[in-house]
Amino acid sequence: MPSFTRLFSSLLFVLFSLGSICSAFAEEVWVYSSRKEHLIKPLFDQYQKETGVSVRYITDKAPPLMARIKAEGKNTKADLFMTVDAGNLWQAANLGILAPLKSPILETNVPSHLRDAEGRWAGLSIRARTIVYSTERVQASELQTYESLAEPQWKGRLCLRTSKKVYNQSLVATMMEHLGEEKAQSIVSAWVTNLATPVFANDTKLMEAILAGQCDVGIVNTYYFGRLQKARPDIPLALFWPNQQGRGVHVNISGAGVTRYAKHPQAAQKLLEWLSSSSAQSAFAGLNMEYPVNAHVKPSEEVSAWGEFKADLIDVDVAGRNQAKAIMLMDRAGYR
Ligand code: FE
Repeated sequence: MPSFTRLFSSLLFVLFSLGSICSAFAEEVWVYSSRKEHLIKPLFDQYQKETGVSVRYITDKAPPLMARIKAEGKNTKADLFMTVDAGNLWQAANLGILAPLKSPILETNVPSHLRDAEGRWAGLSIRARTIVYSTERVQASELQTYESLAEPQWKGRLCLRTSKKVYNQSLVATMMEHLGEEKAQSIVSAWVTNLATPVFANDTKLMEAILAGQCDVGIVNTYYFGRLQKARPDIPLALFWPNQQGRGVHVNISGAGVTRYAKHPQAAQKLLEWLSSSSAQSAFAGLNMEYPVNAHVKPSEEVSAWGEFKADLIDVDVAGRNQAKAIMLMDRAGYR
């Protein structure tokens, strides 16, 4: 009998060890992504080819994905949460769904102002939110700063996207940090006074309004301009880099973080680190006409053609820290 017990426990031990070996080498990692499938799948396919690790994913908008990871708790499948805008990444960290990470690779590849100090998220691409103008009705020399769009010369000539979009909340959040709340509010109020039309649901509609002659200037993310330019190379629109004498152009990120209850935390960290590496950065940024976060990697030719600019080097997590205040400020300013 004792020998049977011993045999049984040895068998259990072997089974258990096999189980842990299998899970340690589980060649799988799960990503919940609000970045669209066509922008991530090619990268995940490449990763799978290079490492044998299969990357599985679901995509949805950021708020439902964050709520889902929170609700799933310890049962979540998500190993990595990927999204756009530092405001969203900050919210995810604040919800407690991301795990702090110590990664010398991310510290080398991602500039410190584009990642969380505790390693809960890191930027993977940079997008500038800048001024776009009609080359038929505006001279670049008339443009200067985000603040200058508040001047009377732009009355009835400015178009803006809705303040409900996190991109504009982040822009205003950083303006508040630089200018102070009072000054930022007076600028935003004057933007509203200068509006030619009600606010738009997205950046592309805004640019179409400029093309239709409804307004002359607006503020958009660079890649939306890139998409439009790709479809219609001779559009009479151009990007302008504001605040070059001062703080620089407002930039934001797409990025990702390992989840708190990841089943494959090491695999998730490896994938995140790989996405920041030279071998992935050019494709990651290039697929959406964005700028790489990794300074060793150059932007694509079409993106480089927009010219170089001085970017605001403020810690992007200010977009999250000031988000609630920015939303209230925009509301007070009548920015819908
Ligand atoms: Fe976008």
